[in-house]
This record gives sequence, C-alpha cells and structure tokens, in this order.
Amino acid sequence: MAGTKGLILIAVERCKGCGMCTVACPSNILKIDKTRVNVKGYQPVTVTDMSLCIGCGNCAQMCPDNAITVKRFDSQRRVVNG
Ligand code: SF4
Ligand code: SF4
Repeated sequence: MAGTKGLILIAVERCKGCGMCTVACPSNILKIDKTRVNVKGYQPVTVTDMSLCIGCGNCAQMCPDNAITVKRFDSQRRVVNG
C-alpha cells in the first residue's frame, strides 16, 4: 500500500448518509455533507481532501448501498485495481 494514492467516486443519489464509510476511512476524509440533500432525502457523504486518499477500499467495502467506487494508483500513476 505504500506509495499508493486513491481516487473515489461517490454515487451521491445512492447514498443514504449512514456514515459507515466515514468511520472506516483511515485517512478521515469522509464526512456527511449537512449542506446537501439527495433525491432520497438523505444527507450524502463527501470527500474533504482527495489528496489524502490511499485507495484502501475500506469505504467501498463498508457501504451497504454500493455507492462508492475506488481507484488505486501506484507511484507512476498506474491503476492497480479494477
Ligand atoms: S479508499 Fe480508503 S482512504 Fe480513500 S476515502 Fe476510501 S476509506 Fe478513505
Ligand atoms: S456507507 Fe454508503 S450509504 Fe453510508 S454514508 Fe457512506 S456512501 Fe453513503
């Protein structure tokens, strides 16, 4: 995992704001956005600083609604997962 960086994509309209991903993130960069409401009426999660994402995938694994997709890159910026 050393040297890897991540990028996550959040399907905001699928998020139900449960907060499970925010607890699972070792970089502590996921927060519930209390300024927004999605079409389901939930306050969705957002990323506070994508540059700190290590691409660990914890958030995606934790999400019960498959609302997060994670890409992980090596130091040459090559994608190292799907
Ligand atoms: S991939 Fe890991 S570091 Fe990145 S947002 Fe998800 S839990 Fe946090
Ligand atoms: S775990 Fe999924 S549904 Fe829950 S806040 Fe995170 S993205 Fe939204």
